[in-house]
Amino acid sequence: MDAMSPTPRVLPQTWTRDTGLAEKRDVWTAMKRGMLGRCPRCGEGKLFRAFLKVADKCNCCGQDFSGHRADDLPAYLVIVIVGHIIVPLVLSVETNYAPPIALQLAVYLPVTLISSLALIQPVKGAVVGLQWALRMHGFDDTPAEGIPPV
Ligand SMILES: [Zn+2]
Repeated sequence: MDAMSPTPRVLPQTWTRDTGLAEKRDVWTAMKRGMLGRCPRCGEGKLFRAFLKVADKCNCCGQDFSGHRADDLPAYLVIVIVGHIIVPLVLSVETNYAPPIALQLAVYLPVTLISSLALIQPVKGAVVGLQWALRMHGFDDTPAEGIPPV
């Protein structure tokens, strides 16, 4: 850790091999923090190191993010969200006003592109936050049953 990094936070109820306590993880809080591009665990560190690249770990609490498996889900969700906004709008405008096709394309295509780009990072953050809160994939920090801790 370099001198510019904030000091690591000590979070209550962190799982340890000694106590066996599992850290409490609230789904909505984690998703909201992820949506804001913050670490779902502490809410302060950065979740992304680039536009859609999830950081390797939190620069504040040290949470490892390498276990996330967002894959294509954020893109599917953005398509569903933007599609449910743009398609009814297009149908309504076409039904009621029937403007020229070129005008419609000049409006709808940029609106679709911009709204998709605006939503993809928050949606991906929320998906990573959800996976963390539900201990999915690589976020399960409790030992498997029957396997003694090392
Ligand atoms: Zn953190």
